Amino acid sequence: MGLQIKDLFASYGAIRAVKGISLEIPEGSCVCLIGANGAGKTSTLRAIMGLIRDRKGEILLDGQSLIRCKPYEVVRKGIAMVPEGRHIFPNLTVEDNLKMGAYFRTNSVEIQSDLERVFQLFPRLKERIYQLGGTLSGGEQQMLAVARALMARPRYLLLDEPSLGLSPILVQAIYYHIQQIRQQGITLLLVEQNARMALEVSDYGYVLETGKIYLQGNSSELSNNPDVQKAYLGET
Ligand code: ATP
Repeated sequence: MGLQIKDLFASYGAIRAVKGISLEIPEGSCVCLIGANGAGKTSTLRAIMGLIRDRKGEILLDGQSLIRCKPYEVVRKGIAMVPEGRHIFPNLTVEDNLKMGAYFRTNSVEIQSDLERVFQLFPRLKERIYQLGGTLSGGEQQMLAVARALMARPRYLLLDEPSLGLSPILVQAIYYHIQQIRQQGITLLLVEQNARMALEVSDYGYVLETGKIYLQGNSSELSNNPDVQKAYLGET
C-alpha cells in the first residue's frame, strides 16, 4: 500500500524538468523532497497530479496506475496538493475558499461536517470565516490553502513549500498543523527549500538536483550527511 513513482519524466516543451525520478511513499509516512531552486521538486508534484501533460513513467496508488488520470481524477482517488504560493481565491471568503476544495462533492451534510473538522484543526480560520481570502495574513493564507486541500478528503497530501515567505514563528505554526494532519492518518509528500524543517518532520527524504535524485535516505541519516549539511543545511 502507498504511492509509488517509477522512473517519472516530465517536460515543458523542450525543457526536461523531471528526468527519471522514482519515489516510495508508504501509507502513513511523511516523505520529503529537498533541493535547490529549479531542481524539479514542484514539477515532480505537478506531474503526480497530472498537471503536466508531457510526462511518462509510472505512478501507482495502492498498485493502481494513475499515469493516465486527469488532475480531478487524481483528486478523486485520494491525492490532493497544496500549491506553492497558496493560490487561494482572494475575492472569496474563507468559507467559500474552503468549499471550493470540495467542489466535486455533492453531499452538503458531509461538506458541512468536513468544514467543522478543518475548523477544529485551524481555529484561526473559523474566526475569520466571512473574511475575504486576500485580506488574510501570509500565514493564515497558507493555513487556508492547506485546509482547502483537506476539504477534498485526501488520503495523501502533497505540500509544496508550505514555509515559503513565512516568519520563523509562522513556520513553526504551519508545521504544528502539518504534524496534526499526519496524526490523522494522512500520508504526506513534502517539498521544501527549508531542508532543516523538512528533515525534522519527515521519515525519509530525497535530494533532487537538476531533475534527478542525487541522494536518498532516512531523514535522520540525511541530516547527518556532510554533503547535505553543507549544501542544504547551511553548515560548514
Ligand atoms: P522552485 O523551488 O524554484 O519551485 P523546483 O525544484 O520546484 O524549484 P521546478 O519549479 O520544478 O523546480 O523547475 C524545474 C525546471 O523546470 C526549472 O528549470 C524550471 O525553469 C523549469 N520550469 C518550471 N516550470 C516551467 C514552466 N511552466 N515552463 C517552462 N519551464 C518550467
